[in-house]
Amino acid sequence: LSWRKVLTMRIVMVGAGYVGLVSGTCLADFGHEVVCVDKEEEKIAKLRLGAVPIYEPGLGELLLANQASGRLSFSTSLKDAVEGADAVFIAVGTPSLAEVGSADMRYVYDAARAIAEVIEGFTVVVIKSTVPVGSGDEVEKILAARLPKDRFAVVSNPEFLREGAAIEDFKHPDRVIVGVEDDRGRSVMHAIYRPIERNAGPILYTTRRSAEMIKYAANVFLAMKVTFINEIADLCEQVDADVLDVSRGIGLDDRIGAKFLNPGPGFGGSCFPKDTLALTKLAIEAKAPIRLVETLVDVNEKRKIAMARKIERACGGSVAGKRIAVLGLTYKPKTDDMRDAPSLVIVPELQAAGAHIVAYDPEGVKAARALLSGVEFADNAYACLAGADAAVVITEWDEFRALDLQKVKAALGKPVVIDLRNIYPIKTMRALGFRYVCVGRGLAG
Ligand code: NAD
Repeated sequence: LSWRKVLTMRIVMVGAGYVGLVSGTCLADFGHEVVCVDKEEEKIAKLRLGAVPIYEPGLGELLLANQASGRLSFSTSLKDAVEGADAVFIAVGTPSLAEVGSADMRYVYDAARAIAEVIEGFTVVVIKSTVPVGSGDEVEKILAARLPKDRFAVVSNPEFLREGAAIEDFKHPDRVIVGVEDDRGRSVMHAIYRPIERNAGPILYTTRRSAEMIKYAANVFLAMKVTFINEIADLCEQVDADVLDVSRGIGLDDRIGAKFLNPGPGFGGSCFPKDTLALTKLAIEAKAPIRLVETLVDVNEKRKIAMARKIERACGGSVAGKRIAVLGLTYKPKTDDMRDAPSLVIVPELQAAGAHIVAYDPEGVKAARALLSGVEFADNAYACLAGADAAVVITEWDEFRALDLQKVKAALGKPVVIDLRNIYPIKTMRALGFRYVCVGRGLAG
């Protein structure tokens, strides 16, 4: 690598979704030259004008700054983008294959075929999407069918960013995982991440298969922590213990760690549900089934339905004919992502039981409209609550924490609050005269 190349890498990001856009923008901010490519023309047209198609705090400003500097650009033409590129990242989706549950690899393999058609000089193909172990070998085969082996290297570089804090996570990761089988691939990856060598966690080089495994193992472990505390919360409700104390009490043990120990309505989102399922399938195919993970997938699915029953109980046994105000629809705050959100199970369950749902979410309504039918959407939280028989908090947006509880009580038709995220103090809610039901907080649960 020449000295110039050591400083600035030319990078193509295939897929301008949550991961591709954030990764591409941050890599440009590190000083590299990045072209983000997506097959959705409308998305690219918007991005060219500086409009960000997703909600991710801080992304708009960073994108505009790097676009203005000329380091970040957008294209629908992979062929034009890859000219002179050192690395082409694949950051396309790997959703669950319907009915089967394993990762649908069609977008990754399509992207690999398209890349094979257009790369010229030596190029590192980096798989950033979350993919089953062995996918790197498949991508290598796809490339080898068209190109001599010395023209490319295939690297696994899984992504660990969290939506809602994605930029901070990408710029200051706890670690960067690079699964690489080849020295040239390794030196390009080293050059790409050199700008954060000193202010982030270590770069861990492993084999490609180990890197692919690390991503699934990490996500499944976190999903397991959430599921564990959810079940402990249910037990706390039966034995009159407070899960918030329990969670803090165990989390202070640094072998356990305090994060991901907040009970709630079950995990959702674009990663945990599909990745837990994909790992169970991978494990079965490899003849090493992981029963722990199979169980947590099942427990989590049932939990979302159980939340609807909890809401019915809090409403006196039935929601039939009742107006239920739902605060928060996205799978977590600070994102507009609705993929596999618990609300997508809870709301239809309540509707099936006869409830009329009025909902408000600060960023998720646009995506939710397409996924939920028969829901009335309100413009703000108080409008949502007006005249309702009960309020249900599904997502813990900060603005819900900051609601004026007197005003909440005045707005509601009946003072019933079911708080699936434990955002309000029990004592205050009781003192204000609410019937307040939360998760895992003793008999109040
Ligand atoms: P996404 O659906 O938001 O984005 C994927 C993008 O790829 C879309 O814009 C789509 O149009 C584009 N695309 C698909 N095929 C293409 C092709 N052949 N050429 C050009 N563009 C193409 O997905 P995402 O949430 O960014 O996830 C991407 C991957 O990263 C997944 O494997 C996911 O598991 C993983 N991941 C996601 C997160 C997260 O928080 N979202 C975190 C870590 C890892």
